[in-house]
Amino acid sequence: MAEGTQPASRQGTAVRQDWSREEVQALFALPFNDLLFRAHSLHRAQFDPNAVQLSTLLSIKTGACPEDCAYCPQSARFDTGLKAEPLLPLAEVKRAAEEAKANGATRFCMGAAWRAPKDRDLEKVAAMVREVKSLGLETCVTLGMLQPHQAHNLAEAGLDYYNHNLDTSPEYYGEIISTRTYEDRLDTLENVRAAGVKVCCGGIVGMGESNVDRAEFLRTLANLPQQPESVPINELVAVPGTPLGDAAKLDPFEFVRTIAVARILMPRSYVRLSAGRTEMNDELQALCFFAGANSIFYGERLLTTGNPQNERDRKLFSRLGIHAEARVTSELEVACGA
Ligand code: SF4
Repeated sequence: MAEGTQPASRQGTAVRQDWSREEVQALFALPFNDLLFRAHSLHRAQFDPNAVQLSTLLSIKTGACPEDCAYCPQSARFDTGLKAEPLLPLAEVKRAAEEAKANGATRFCMGAAWRAPKDRDLEKVAAMVREVKSLGLETCVTLGMLQPHQAHNLAEAGLDYYNHNLDTSPEYYGEIISTRTYEDRLDTLENVRAAGVKVCCGGIVGMGESNVDRAEFLRTLANLPQQPESVPINELVAVPGTPLGDAAKLDPFEFVRTIAVARILMPRSYVRLSAGRTEMNDELQALCFFAGANSIFYGERLLTTGNPQNERDRKLFSRLGIHAEARVTSELEVACGA
């Protein structure tokens, strides 16, 4: 961190979990500059404003998913031309993790397109977690719905984070997914927490939801019994062949507002710019960093959709004076009860 940018107190920002509908909608309705000023001030008080955490994501089992998430090319229900692939061998996962580490990632996330893992598959994923952890990387997996004993097995293997998104507001959720309920998702988050694993939980915007839905989505995340340590905010990547293949593009300023409100509601969480970055120009990404985004997916591929090349990210960081966060385990994450 450059001299003079160290916040006076990194533990001082209060975390509220009683946000009302009206309060969150009022934040979204603020003049853009007022909203960004407020979000950035909070961000600066809590984090190094010029540091961004890098995660790399690998799809360890691709496609043929029985679920019907309307945005997802991995659903077996939609014809997107995606080639399904079985669970990767351990050696291949290890190779990818070594490469991610060499490229500066501190966290390695592994995603499998399952409704819920079978116990025999879970053992294989636990072996991957052990291997990746032994390289000195933080580990994260996203495997679908998880039972309590499965969460405990992953925790024992050394899992740091479990990703399970709420996707959108409770009210809009039924428009996007019919094969599992919002309550199912909350149950998995509870099982993950009970096992002592940190939570990565966010969603997708630009799926045709209203401004009120975006507010309610973020309010639900912020009012969870414990706020997620990591909050990925994805912009829809409209994949032809999925029900959302023709979705209208979200106003980029509305995306920045979503990041800013996430930062205000969850001041100690890492807010991650996730899917959709490929289609964002550098100026929009810079605005998102100013609004409070401080984590990105970094690497060649983001599950089955594109992610900006490492080189483009390096250049952008250099132009903005941003550096990769070096520490693997953040004291802030520990401070917020992880
Ligand atoms: S988002 Fe996950 S659960 Fe939904 S269809 Fe895609 S892989 Fe399956």
